[in-house]
Amino acid sequence: MNHRRLGASGLAVSEIAFGNWITHGAQVDDNTAFSCVHAALDTGITTFDTADVYSETRAESVLGQALKGVRREGIELCTKVYHPTGAGNNDKGLSRKHIMEACHASLNRLQTDYIDVYYAHRFDATVSLEETFLAFSDLVRQGKVLYVGVSEWTADQITNGAALARELRVPLVASQPQYSMLWRVIEAEVVHACEREGIGQVVWSPLAQGILSGKYAPEKPVPSGSRASSSAGSPFFNKLAGQWLRTEVLLAVSKLDSLAREAGLTLPQLAIAWVLQNPHISAAIIGASKPEQVQENVKASGVRLDSEMMREIDTILDGFIERDPAKTG
Ligand code: NDP
Repeated sequence: MNHRRLGASGLAVSEIAFGNWITHGAQVDDNTAFSCVHAALDTGITTFDTADVYSETRAESVLGQALKGVRREGIELCTKVYHPTGAGNNDKGLSRKHIMEACHASLNRLQTDYIDVYYAHRFDATVSLEETFLAFSDLVRQGKVLYVGVSEWTADQITNGAALARELRVPLVASQPQYSMLWRVIEAEVVHACEREGIGQVVWSPLAQGILSGKYAPEKPVPSGSRASSSAGSPFFNKLAGQWLRTEVLLAVSKLDSLAREAGLTLPQLAIAWVLQNPHISAAIIGASKPEQVQENVKASGVRLDSEMMREIDTILDGFIERDPAKTG
């Protein structure tokens, strides 16, 4: 497993990170969750990503249990705040009250004293950036948070946040957007704004939630046991990846599968390696419902794709790639 620096910060992250959205505390039982985390650790993944809102807070608890006994200094534990975790008026968003309370709750569930990267899971237009960043600043001074990130913020929101972060001496070092061969909306604006600010991209759904694994065949029902077929996963899958469950896209994906095989890779490995060719990317966060998926996918670390291969991928996917920066968030 190769490691990269997170933006201009000194923090090293594994270029393939492990995330537990949808899976832990929902789609898979705890023993499977523990085996996936152990497969990640055994294959050199050191960076783990979760959020307070995942599986109504259960995902953080499962990850905390799975990592019990693991040397804390040897991993980077990242979580997020913003989405509602309760019914109260203050159980959501980026107010000082919610950030402080959410951080303490996450620390408890993760069974740790500090969070390596604490993300604002979305932009909160109802709270001043100053209030949000002052709360992050205090958490950093208290040693409860080491670095700060944002997720699905636009280039302008990131630039404004970074100015305030600089003023308040908050180490804002990570942006967490969606990025895959099919979803490239960060390329036009976000990556450039981030580069100016020393912020690295830690990207989600590099397999477009499994579309780029090749498991969804054209004109066939979705396979049982897949995210698209599971009650925990299908609402998110349909909302964010359902647009690609069309014959013409799936036919293109099957051509990518042949291309991957010619290169001695599996399709998931090709898709993750493609993400990692972009120098703006600090890490790609993979999800897994089985330890074997982790073992297969980590082999994308260190793979180089030549320019001819990159061109062929673009030709195959032509017409199906989303590039509009207005789709951020
Ligand atoms: P992926 O695109 O990697 O999709 C993972 C899913 O694809 C797996 O759970 C599995 O689903 C399927 N899969 C993975 N590998 C294989 C394989 N080798 N063969 C066949 N199927 C495979 O990432 P996710 O969508 O899971 O997102 C990754 C992480 O990103 C999340 O856990 C979370 O930490 C983060 N994230 C952040 C967001 C944000 O707003 N900041 C939003 C979403 C995610 P199955 O087997 O069930 O079909």
